[in-house]
Amino acid sequence: MDTTMNSNIAANIRTQRLASLIPMLSQMIPDHAILSEPEQLKAYECDAFTTMRQMPLLTVLPDTIEQVQHVMRCCHALDIPVVARGAGTGLTAGSMPVENGVLLGMNKFDKIHDIDLHNRSAWIDPGVRNQAVSDATAPYNLYFAPDPSSQLACSVGGNVAENAGGVHCLKYGLTVHNILELDVITIEGERITIGGQALDAAGYDLLALMTGSEGLLGIIVGIRVKLLAKPASARVLLAAFATIEDAGNAIAEIIGAGIIPAGLEMIDQKGIQAIEALMHAGYPVNAAAVVICELDGSVKEVEDELNSVLTILHRLNASDIQISTNEAESKRIWAARKAAFPALACLAPDNYVMDGTIPRRALAQVWTKINLLADEYQLLVVNVFHAGDGNMHPSILFDSSDEDQHKRATELGTRILELCVQVGGTISGEHGIGLEKINQMCLQFTNNEISQFHALKSAFDSKALLNPGKQIPTLARCTEFHSMHIHNGEMPFPHLERF
Ligand SMILES: Cc1cc2nc3c(=O)[nH]c(=O)nc-3n(C[C@H](O)[C@H](O)[C@H](O)COP(=O)(O)OP(=O)(O)OC[C@H]3O[C@@H](n4cnc5c(N)ncnc54)[C@H](O)[C@@H]3O)c2cc1C
Repeated sequence: MDTTMNSNIAANIRTQRLASLIPMLSQMIPDHAILSEPEQLKAYECDAFTTMRQMPLLTVLPDTIEQVQHVMRCCHALDIPVVARGAGTGLTAGSMPVENGVLLGMNKFDKIHDIDLHNRSAWIDPGVRNQAVSDATAPYNLYFAPDPSSQLACSVGGNVAENAGGVHCLKYGLTVHNILELDVITIEGERITIGGQALDAAGYDLLALMTGSEGLLGIIVGIRVKLLAKPASARVLLAAFATIEDAGNAIAEIIGAGIIPAGLEMIDQKGIQAIEALMHAGYPVNAAAVVICELDGSVKEVEDELNSVLTILHRLNASDIQISTNEAESKRIWAARKAAFPALACLAPDNYVMDGTIPRRALAQVWTKINLLADEYQLLVVNVFHAGDGNMHPSILFDSSDEDQHKRATELGTRILELCVQVGGTISGEHGIGLEKINQMCLQFTNNEISQFHALKSAFDSKALLNPGKQIPTLARCTEFHSMHIHNGEMPFPHLERF
């Protein structure tokens, strides 16, 4: 079928769907909450993975749970796809609309309803910003541990849907470890509660299943988050290294010594220089890599661990060691690290950020191979990442308006993820799959495993209307992917050691 015929079919579907959907939605949703003009819809065509875009049929902005239920019932009755959107900071095109589908914006759900000090938890709306939870609970000396670098903007609903992480997840866990209960609206418009206020719940662990389900199983409309007590003391160290091997070994040795830092991050030279140019935080620009390590706990605990970490750092030839003595100094070091994305945006128009997670021992080896691949594809790759949990974030910097660069960046991304799988790692540590990594799911999972994912999806959404085409590839797609990418049955580095 040619492109003109395809676009005529799409246009006809659009006209029919608008004619049937708008009157139905309007029975319960006010006109101002149904956006249909192209200039209104443009704002919703992509998330932070800006190289993939699609305009929605409509954007609906409900502000009550009953309205969400109504949208779901209408879409279910008319077989129209629905994509939920939080703040749109996702990095995998997860909340990018699907053609002729509804985009369900959850931003108006922005209330913190109840802070329960006895149970150290809070019941919040899905559209509440991540940072807003810790801000609201700070007067009680409590905070919400998952802290993605996007925490000023991203929603907790989006964090749950992506099982988001952040620098403090090494010690305090991902989003899945920091929530207790969810209210969810099914595609049929039914409201279900999963999890509970206790630490365990009877039956299947649907709470864990829903966390990281990327909007494919239901719409999250309420979240009970766990709150942690702020530690009595916290110190942040920054250490420079002349080689990436020493920096990688420092990470492995700190963890090997039985210390679990609150955060353990690593930045390569290009990353250090980009961050320093933007933030002027005093990062050592001539170092091959820096390691940032936060230790928290009681004053005595922190002092003891600090001494052990310093011994390791000195043994591995670290230099320019900075140690924060107060909260302001800690914030200076972290604020610069968290500004890595904007800093890299000063180097190139587009940033394709990988999210592969590998066994820690493979860090230096994989880092070296990534640099070789970057040379092969003649692209700039910068590494700023959660080293403590092996979550690599190589950022491929390129210009998507140059078709050849775009193609090379996409291919390089695939090869980096293949490399992560090859050493025994995974294709996603915290950003999810969305559309961006859907092909690489075929590398990570067998056809039997992917079939089980489809069976699960179908148990929640038999018509495949919720965020269709994302996260789980079809088996046909996998067959095509394998025939195109794995030549002669070999991965990119056939003799690479698997950890
Ligand atoms: C500068 C920058 C730094 C980042 N740093 C990190 C980081 O350190 N760690 C990390 O994990 N991520 C990071 N991210 C990625 C992103 O911020 C997270 O994935 C975040 O959880 C997305 O939240 P959101 O509200 O923007 O969700 P969106 O992007 O709007 O949506 C993400 C997914 O969640 C689904 N969804 C959203 N709301 C709901 C709901 N109520 N019910 C059901 N499904 C829903 C969407 O359909 C989509 O599949 C970063 C992004 C940027 C731009």
